[in-house]
Amino acid sequence: MLGDRNLRGMIEKALDRLNDDLNIKVDKKNPDRIHALEAALCTRFSYYERKDPLSEDNASKVSILLSHGIRNALSNIKGEYKVDSLTLDVNADMVIGDEFVVRFEIVPELPAMPHPRHLLYLNACLFALGKDEGILIYMTADGRTTEYSVTKNNRMFEEIVRRARVLSTLLKDGKVPIVEPSDLCLKCKYYSRCYSREKAKETTDMLQEIFGKLSPK
Ligand code: SF4
Repeated sequence: MLGDRNLRGMIEKALDRLNDDLNIKVDKKNPDRIHALEAALCTRFSYYERKDPLSEDNASKVSILLSHGIRNALSNIKGEYKVDSLTLDVNADMVIGDEFVVRFEIVPELPAMPHPRHLLYLNACLFALGKDEGILIYMTADGRTTEYSVTKNNRMFEEIVRRARVLSTLLKDGKVPIVEPSDLCLKCKYYSRCYSREKAKETTDMLQEIFGKLSPK
């Protein structure tokens, strides 16, 4: 507290405001408009974010803010692709030489190969922006980078459209998508809605019994 003001509370509110300003705008009320990021991520996560969101913890807010800040410093090019009544929105980070669509991913460690959800998203950007080639750049906070080139791919685009349609339908029907187990789950704020995580006391007892029997007398 500083005087009678709650300094921490004021900082948190300022962070929330900044995050709201910088965040990619998703038309949450319109299930016929799906952002390609929502479809590339776990659709259950995207459903909860629209219908029954939990707020981020402070560490996540800062990390999201940093990546939004970097994106905002880039061109942030918007595009959309219409498939029947569904509109797929995208935001690319930049287009180089009117030819290559670039997407940055800020990561704690450089990956050995590109993540499928990042490829799906960049490929959707290629279709929405009418380009054939993309560059996916992974970057760490200490400035290390690695790049992958991506060529427009119809099957990957069909997959993201399929996922967007599923999300759109389930949003309209008010049905929560199925659990999609992945690396995202471990740090996901909705983990407890998807998995039971009660510690199994009986398992612990059983292990003690097994190892007790194995230990030398
Ligand atoms: S815990 Fe996993 S399955 Fe559940 S919403 Fe998060 S990412 Fe999706």
